[in-house]
Amino acid sequence: MTTSSPLIQPTKAHAVPKDLRALLGSEKVKDDVSTITAYAVDAGIYRIPPQAVVLVESEDDIAATIGYARSRGIPLTPRAAGTNLTGSAIGSGIILDVSRLNRILEVNPEERWARVQPGIVLAELNKQLSTHGLMFGPDPSSGDMCKLGGMIANNSSGPHTLRYGSVKDNVQSLRLCLTSSSWIEARSYALDDPTLERLLTTVPALRDVLVLTQAHADLIAAKRPTVGKNSCGYNLFGVAEGLMRGSFDLPKLFVGSEGTLGVMSEATLTLVNKPASTLTALIHFQSLEEVGDAVPRILMLQPSALEVMDANTLNLIGRGKHGIPADAAATLLLELDADSFELDLREQAETMAAICRPYKLASKPTVAFDAERREQLWKARKALYPTLYRFDPKKKPINFVDDVVVPAERISELIRYLEDFFKGQRVPVAIFGHIGNGNAHIVPLLDVNDRGDFEKMVTAYREIHTTVLNRFGGSICGEHGDGRVRAEFVKQMFGEELYALFVQVKKAFDPEHVLNPGIKLSDAPFTDHIDYARLSKPCATCAKCNSVCPVYDVFQSEDMSARGWFEIVTSKDYSYLNSKRVVEACLNCKSCRTICPAGVDVSDLILQKRAQHPNRLAGWIFRRQANGTIFESFLRFLGSTQNVWDRPFLRRLLERITAPIMKWLAPTARLPHDLVLPKFAARLLRERYADLIPGETSPSTRTVAYFHGCAANYFDDGVGDAVIDVLKKHEVEPALPPQRCSGTPVQTYGHVDLVRDGARFNLRSLAPYETIVTGCASCTLMLKDYPALFPEGTERQQAEELAKKVVHISEFVSRSPQHPPMANADGATKRVTYHSSCHLRAAGVTKEPRQVLSSLPGVNLVEMQDADRCAGGAGTYLIKDYDTSQKIFGRKARAITQTGANVVATSCPACMIQLKNGVGDSIEVKHVAQLLQDAYRAAERQKS
Ligand SMILES: Cc1cc2nc3c(=O)[nH]c(=O)nc-3n(C[C@H](O)[C@H](O)[C@H](O)COP(=O)(O)OP(=O)(O)OC[C@H]3O[C@@H](n4cnc5c(N)ncnc54)[C@H](O)[C@@H]3O)c2cc1C
Ligand code: SF4
Ligand code: SF4
Repeated sequence: MTTSSPLIQPTKAHAVPKDLRALLGSEKVKDDVSTITAYAVDAGIYRIPPQAVVLVESEDDIAATIGYARSRGIPLTPRAAGTNLTGSAIGSGIILDVSRLNRILEVNPEERWARVQPGIVLAELNKQLSTHGLMFGPDPSSGDMCKLGGMIANNSSGPHTLRYGSVKDNVQSLRLCLTSSSWIEARSYALDDPTLERLLTTVPALRDVLVLTQAHADLIAAKRPTVGKNSCGYNLFGVAEGLMRGSFDLPKLFVGSEGTLGVMSEATLTLVNKPASTLTALIHFQSLEEVGDAVPRILMLQPSALEVMDANTLNLIGRGKHGIPADAAATLLLELDADSFELDLREQAETMAAICRPYKLASKPTVAFDAERREQLWKARKALYPTLYRFDPKKKPINFVDDVVVPAERISELIRYLEDFFKGQRVPVAIFGHIGNGNAHIVPLLDVNDRGDFEKMVTAYREIHTTVLNRFGGSICGEHGDGRVRAEFVKQMFGEELYALFVQVKKAFDPEHVLNPGIKLSDAPFTDHIDYARLSKPCATCAKCNSVCPVYDVFQSEDMSARGWFEIVTSKDYSYLNSKRVVEACLNCKSCRTICPAGVDVSDLILQKRAQHPNRLAGWIFRRQANGTIFESFLRFLGSTQNVWDRPFLRRLLERITAPIMKWLAPTARLPHDLVLPKFAARLLRERYADLIPGETSPSTRTVAYFHGCAANYFDDGVGDAVIDVLKKHEVEPALPPQRCSGTPVQTYGHVDLVRDGARFNLRSLAPYETIVTGCASCTLMLKDYPALFPEGTERQQAEELAKKVVHISEFVSRSPQHPPMANADGATKRVTYHSSCHLRAAGVTKEPRQVLSSLPGVNLVEMQDADRCAGGAGTYLIKDYDTSQKIFGRKARAITQTGANVVATSCPACMIQLKNGVGDSIEVKHVAQLLQDAYRAAERQKS
């Protein structure tokens, strides 16, 4: 049996997807260029384009796809979030994506277990379990994006493994489809259980494994890794242990099998109570050796997590940025949980300080108890790997010796060895990991396109793995899986005999070798299929952006996701025509840019591609808008006649009449008759406040300008009035200088020249003012982003000056020295929740609106679970793709309902349109400025 990866090429173009479409329906099967490009990668270092992608929605889909793959001998690779670091979720045949199977099927809080589907993201699962005070223990740092299917197949773990163990310790049973297309319930069976005998008869592969494990118990025991963690090879050790206890423990076999033995559709997980309180501490040591000495003592405190970052890692992530002292040789991140409030964590903190006292520390340990501060301490550690992508344009962090395990007490010795080794190679390296159980992540920074660096990589792979095995008696894989990267070394880790047993296991379940070939067991060198082109790009393919991308949230398909779009638009095969569908699907919400640890702005890359094909209809409209007069007259007309045309029958008619025109905007564009439109202003804001417009001959002496943007001017939504009123209450008489659209919608349709024209106009007009106040999230961000429009020169300087002066009204108020009196506007207490507009988050304004809201009398601010997720309006996206926009809003609607709020507050008039349309009349939607205005007015009323 060959164990290398067959690269099956289709005999006839599109034959495989065509067959699959006939089998499953066309909605679930994709093979266009964009899809193939997006699914050719995961978070590992490889690229293999598949022939087709199947987005399964049921167990029947899984069984049918497996049956087809087997009958045709086509490789089949299960895939969840594609965040593995080993290339195990890519393959040359069919990718079976389980992301749409993402429900929690059952939770039993009393018995603390949950039955879940494989496509659910860990963070989502934990969010929902937290209402029961429960969580799933294993916590990979990728928990915001990785899914249960991948975690189980990889036997993942994370910082808290010290307390909760790996996935294999927390799975009760699995539902699996084998290559025979039959389903099994993989749980632990007592050896005398009659159902086991029936199962062994119907599934001979299971009997093979049972017999083989019994027959080779001594060999398995002799080769059992003795370190704290191991995910290398098949876990026959766990199976053998079960047999000694009198049971055939099937989850032990399948957890960690990396999709090579069967495809999972369900898992029953053991849950743990969320700790009552937690302490997180950062301890900076001056000497690495002293870390080694301190660890066994700290472990006596029974921490739930104990992490290390070595000196190089601290240098690479930037000491200054994270407040790490210059002389820290290594930093420990420690967490202590209290299961009940009775355990005094402050006392524990003192004990910890006493333990550390004899050592030379670079500074006093930093200790945090509250969630926000603790999250801050974890932030650098969790985003460490993708953050390393910022270090050098060519040398990238390469995962090929990333997951070794040694005895915990020898980790300092390992780090010293590694630092010397890479110093000898003159290679920068980050070493970090779970020191509590001896698991080190080693990530050298290399330019694999450079021959010298490539050879260093190959040398390091062999030398380090061999040293870990021979000198430290360790394992080459603690939690990331073998994948493609370690498959060739599994034989060396366990020896020929045990490796032969692994091959027999694989053969028993997958005689045709179709399930994820090339993964776990392979003769192919780990350098096969390396994606040299991608490894010189700035994206770490970590998928963090997918976790916030509203489009991915709806479609659960990599070709409709931020990470996928990075791949697509930077691919050498990219053309607008073959990728128009996906390039036009982005909302430009900027959530990906806000979250990306590597500093990539996918939304901007997409805008650049759109700029090569600006939309003609949008251009025509924006040019009319820039000219002003006719456009504004038309809006005034809409405003004064809205009560006539904004009725159900006429709106239906309008939708029909405008349909052919809207198609010029996008194939999905329409003027939905059921969209609740904002009230158009019969008198525009600038007309209502003409006294604030600086005269042409007498320049304004006022220092604060209000950049109202388009929505506040064109709609009678109360936002512009509120901002002006609030400013006046703060004793500021704002000016309304002439202004054009800030540019966000114009840019969205690809008209960069128009955006620059508008920006030049605004730069001139706003230059005389000291402060530019905005009320719109998108205008705030766009004005702050103007420097990006002008690469250099005077305009660049002017844009940079302007960017510094722009403040959102919530920032203005929270910084204002004035504190106008406020009172409860309605008498009764209001439950208010806050929707954090994406563009304001991208502009870095997150705390101020919440500060303002919580300062309002009679307001009970309740944090919304998905406050930071896009609501799906995104300016004109609502019109461009109404159906998707409403699907995106579905999640926001659930989050709002969950809060029980009577008011949703936000910071953006455009988001208000979507919110009002979505929540109906039952919940009030208000801008932060409007709620402030209400409070100021109420105080005035009380006074008079
Ligand atoms: C920034 C970053 C940090 C990380 N930190 C950690 C960490 O702390 N600890 C850790 O353990 N890992 C970590 N990882 C690796 C990775 O996130 C985990 O291994 C994760 O559990 C993989 O989940 P996934 O949903 O992305 O799976 P995928 O990558 O999609 O798949 C992983 C494997 O699971 C198989 N698979 C998926 N679904 C099924 C199914 N339904 N049936 C059968 N097989 C299936 C695939 O074939 C593949 O072999 C990190 C990765 C990144 C990018
Ligand atoms: S764009 Fe950023 S967040 Fe997204 S995959 Fe790339 S590195 Fe990760
Ligand atoms: S801008 Fe928003 S919709 Fe577009 S890729 Fe980024 S997260 Fe996704």
